[in-house]
Amino acid sequence: MSNGIRLVLLGRQGAGKGTQAVRLADHYDVPHISTGDMLRAAVKDGTEFGLKAKAVMDAGGLVSDEIMVGVVHERLHQADATSRGYILDGFPRTEAQARALAEITADSPLEVVLNLEVPEAVVVERITKRRVCRSCGRIYSVDSPPAKDWICDTDGGDVVQRDDDTEDAVRKRLELYAAETLPLVAFYSEAGQLVDVDGLGSADEVFDRVVEGISARRAG
Ligand code: AMP
Repeated sequence: MSNGIRLVLLGRQGAGKGTQAVRLADHYDVPHISTGDMLRAAVKDGTEFGLKAKAVMDAGGLVSDEIMVGVVHERLHQADATSRGYILDGFPRTEAQARALAEITADSPLEVVLNLEVPEAVVVERITKRRVCRSCGRIYSVDSPPAKDWICDTDGGDVVQRDDDTEDAVRKRLELYAAETLPLVAFYSEAGQLVDVDGLGSADEVFDRVVEGISARRAG
């Protein structure tokens, strides 16, 4: 069995973070921790917190740093993450979250911050074509749908468009990414933790590049 990994995935919406995160979690045998999936689960459960989060998410905004740091702090202290590591997808999204994450992981620091690079023009098209399984989160595209009539190949759930993948919300999310999250690329680069990977091409091609980039970093 591999040794696990403690990895953060950065990249704009539609860069392929979710797709690569699922593969990386399988490859390194660690949990895939997606703050977006955690929020969508809370929305589905209909909790008061979920309803509030849904309003923010549908408008393309960001849930407060305080809440997100609390959620991630709790999740990273669960046994699966403390024993083998994690693929953290969707967090940190702001400099305040990155600083909080450094404190949370002070005893077992991040090994790699992977930056999936895809130009903005490409991601807008990918997001508008994106479809997601409502129950397991598996990602499809109108260009590569499930085998049977928008029923998930993995668990039979309904495959639908995300409520926040509308044009207005997507534009707002990309603006927020540029303003709040892109500075983290420089932040982690200065810390010597960043691995840049070209996110263009098929999911298989990108995955090969990602694993190669991680191995080179770990060897070096
Ligand atoms: P994602 O699936 O990562 O695109 O996340 C979907 C939405 O959840 C985002 O557009 C935000 O509204 C919210 N969200 C997810 N992660 C965070 C985070 N780390 N900080 C603030 N909001 C978040």
